[in-house]
Amino acid sequence: MLAGEGAPKAASIAAILGKCHKAGTESKAYAEAGALRWGNGVAEHVLQGDPDIDLVLRSSPRARRITLRVSQLDGRVTLTLPNGVPPREALEFARAKEDWIRAHMARRPETVLVELGANIMIEGRVRRVVAGSGRAVRLNEDTLAVPGAPDSVPRRVVGFLKARARDVLVHASDVYADRLGRSYSGISLRDTRSRWGSCSSTGRLMYSWRLILAPPDILQYVAAHEVAHLAQMNHSPAFWDEVSRIHGPYAAPRRWLRTHGTDLHRYRFEN
Ligand SMILES: [Zn+2]
Repeated sequence: MLAGEGAPKAASIAAILGKCHKAGTESKAYAEAGALRWGNGVAEHVLQGDPDIDLVLRSSPRARRITLRVSQLDGRVTLTLPNGVPPREALEFARAKEDWIRAHMARRPETVLVELGANIMIEGRVRRVVAGSGRAVRLNEDTLAVPGAPDSVPRRVVGFLKARARDVLVHASDVYADRLGRSYSGISLRDTRSRWGSCSSTGRLMYSWRLILAPPDILQYVAAHEVAHLAQMNHSPAFWDEVSRIHGPYAAPRRWLRTHGTDLHRYRFEN
């Protein structure tokens, strides 16, 4: 079983801070900056704490100063630094502003009613709910197009998400069960706040359909986790070895669930 957190953390607000100042954590930031892996001017870093904060560092030729921003849509924390500014300096800044980051993350609005015009994260990407044509709900890169009467939109969206979650979770469970060399007896989807999935002693898998809102690798990890319980009904080292064997490294998705998991519960589908 994979437990979630308690009450949902609130949503986000965007803000920009002023100039960097020196903090007393230089040597640590220096070591962390050395470990960053840059690609296309972007790097990721985890600011350790309770919970961890996932930072995206962005090096920009247009930036004039170091800025921190907490996205209103998905709570992402972006640290932008002008070209030529040492990443160490930006990390020191982020560390010095940790309380500010947490305060802004906590200030995000608690729930979003999923109706026309709303933004919802689906498979890790924020999409705007727009009016669609034809009969079927259509998932596009930046939108979710929902045909029909506006007041039926929340219900149609949740129907679409549950169907898609089922398809993806059944497929993932099949793949991992195959790698494990065991079979499961059935799959059910629920909307559970207390856990992301479970596996019964009779081999029945249960998942939260809200996993379809998370980035795809998060859903994959939860499926591998529950399937691994078919072999090990515990969280022993042997269990984690199975997870590793059928899925690969799992530290990052576990951390994502701890940090962002409650955000998946902020969407509402009824008036
Ligand atoms: Zn478990």
